[in-house]
Amino acid sequence: MDETMMPCVVCGRPGHHEGEHREDVERLARLSRLKGDVLSMMVKRGWSLHWIHRSAYLHLEAAELAEAVRGKHGDTLEESGDVLITLLALSPHRFEDICEAAAEKVGKLMSAPAYESEVLAPGQEST
Ligand SMILES: [Zn+2]
Repeated sequence: MDETMMPCVVCGRPGHHEGEHREDVERLARLSRLKGDVLSMMVKRGWSLHWIHRSAYLHLEAAELAEAVRGKHGDTLEESGDVLITLLALSPHRFEDICEAAAEKVGKLMSAPAYESEVLAPGQEST
């Protein structure tokens, strides 16, 4: 294969354009480090690594996000980030694996028969 037609490792389009993707690559690197960064920060700040405490913080941050979404108090983006931090602190899985699991579940739910309590949108019969 002509090397200039090889797919880009970042976007899959043919050719070399790594320079165009510098920000994407840095963002990906930051995301793949996120869980380790969260745990390092917790250790540095002397926060408990015990799952009981981490579980309590996940509940707390989820409640704060719900409050922000309801317009009661707090910024929705900041609170979403706090939920993710507490999720990564509690889960034994890597960020990328959690995203994969979520994407797989969403894919299944797109075609799964409706649960008894669900009413599908008009014209959206399950397949
Ligand atoms: Zn590219």
